[in-house]
Amino acid sequence: MMSGAMTDGFHLVIEALRLNGIETIYGVAGIPITDLARLAQQEGLHYFGFRHEQSAGHAAAIAGYLTQKPGVCLTVSGPGFLNGLVALANATTNCFPMILLSGSSDRAIVDLEQGDYEELDQMTAAKPFAKASFRVNRPEDIGIGVARAVRAAVSGRPGGVYLDLTAAALSAVLDADAGQKSLVKVVDPAPAQMPSALAVQRAIQLLSVAQRPLIILGKGAAYAQADSAIRSFIERTHIPFLPMSMAKGLLPDAHPLSVAAARSYAIGHADVVMLVGARLNWLLSHGKGPLWSEDTQYIQLDIAATEMDSNRPIQAPVVGDIHSSMEALVAALEDYPIGARREWLEALHQQKQKNIARMAARLAADPRPMNFSSALGAVRAVLQEHSGVYVVNEGANALDFARNIIDMQDPRMRLDSGTWGIMGIGMGYAVGAATARGGIVLAIEGDSAFGFSGMELETICRYRLPVVVLVMNNGGIYRGDVGNGPPSPTGFVAGARYDRLIEAFGGQGYHVEDPQALMQALQEALAARRPALINCVIDPLAGTESGHIQNLNPKSGLA
Ligand code: ADP
Ligand code: MG
Repeated sequence: MMSGAMTDGFHLVIEALRLNGIETIYGVAGIPITDLARLAQQEGLHYFGFRHEQSAGHAAAIAGYLTQKPGVCLTVSGPGFLNGLVALANATTNCFPMILLSGSSDRAIVDLEQGDYEELDQMTAAKPFAKASFRVNRPEDIGIGVARAVRAAVSGRPGGVYLDLTAAALSAVLDADAGQKSLVKVVDPAPAQMPSALAVQRAIQLLSVAQRPLIILGKGAAYAQADSAIRSFIERTHIPFLPMSMAKGLLPDAHPLSVAAARSYAIGHADVVMLVGARLNWLLSHGKGPLWSEDTQYIQLDIAATEMDSNRPIQAPVVGDIHSSMEALVAALEDYPIGARREWLEALHQQKQKNIARMAARLAADPRPMNFSSALGAVRAVLQEHSGVYVVNEGANALDFARNIIDMQDPRMRLDSGTWGIMGIGMGYAVGAATARGGIVLAIEGDSAFGFSGMELETICRYRLPVVVLVMNNGGIYRGDVGNGPPSPTGFVAGARYDRLIEAFGGQGYHVEDPQALMQALQEALAARRPALINCVIDPLAGTESGHIQNLNPKSGLA
């Protein structure tokens, strides 16, 4: 008998999210979660509807990175879930906290493989790609399910969590009081993890005997929001630093101790390297030759103990959260002051100046059509006058060139292909950045990379987001086709007008062929704070196969 007030699974999901400080959902509506999305919006949550689940998932993931709260993506069952799974796996790989919520079909039918609509055992499918994967079968378990998902996403090393919501649990009703009592507010979801005093002392001692120390900052350091401790450690010790791409801006790129312009030299000559939230993975050549010396000794700050010794032995592991670890290191400087190494700094400075001069020459060249350097030189000049612009960046050459050419002044403003070198994050990250904290976004996209999420231009226009998309259009993957043959595996339509795509949705399109026009268009678009797309014509011959990572293409062993 139903006497008192009742509630249902739909309401409980919304209340459980809200109770845990989650105010935004990115998703694509459909069976069986359409009413969940509607209700979320009615109840005052922000709902952003996308055209493809992968983009919604990327938006959630980057919102998680920026806010230290799990970003939530909502999808339908089966194929919609699978579309979102790429974003969940990417979030897990990059250590971004995210929750993928998908509705699922009838368990009884799915488990007997009787052929339900969008039949898939989603919880099991998600497991290898997620930090954790759970299923809620009963409405009274929604509170605990959401709590487990929240804690799994943000505690320790952050990652992607899948939470399966069966259609039956969503529609089921239960007593409103019992429902209310079943909700769980997670206390201290990402507890501080203090490093041991011994580990801190070992690290400082190693640094104090180093002749050529180097600090490498990774996106784990950016995520931790330990900006002032990191800055104070670097400035007090005068140890030069190198930012990984998403750590750019943790200290300004123009900082005198940044050795980004002397990257190979600094890595190759350092005797002690302190990794702060950066893994010794492919992006750092696994710590191996020819880039690295055999004799380099390592200090590594990471929250995941198993990250230590993953590629090279770590002489001074500091396991803990970066905030706590950096503060402990700063405090330890009182007892073990570390002095500047003048010869080392001088050598790095020389190297830096050489490379800066070389780059200046490339930026100043004015070829027609434009190449990546001349176009990005124009972008760089405009951005120097605009602080607080998020830079989303993907592509092959568009990524490599922009990473080096575009300076960042502030932390967590550069969002890119990350650990996997993934393509397709562009519009999702742009929407996530524009909505998570507010702010203007410039998405610098290769024409190929843009294609993976291009339909989200409609999403950007629908919500009138301040997103400017710059398509570096050389007519292909890596470069464009020239001549009259059939399309090559890497070629696209030559002379494509991407600017006209955004006009279909009421956004502003620009077509530019020289740096002057590019600067003008970009200035105007940033000032307008409205959706815009700049089709930037690049020489189809500009760009190299695979950008800077051509070595990763397998070469036949045949002579
Ligand atoms: P990058 O690609 O910039 O080099 P990675 O993604 O390889 O950075 O490395 C980030 C590292 O930071 C991961 O090993 C992760 O465990 C770690 N990490 C993430 N968040 C924190 C945190 N709050 N405290 C400590 N380590 C963290
Ligand atoms: Mg291209």
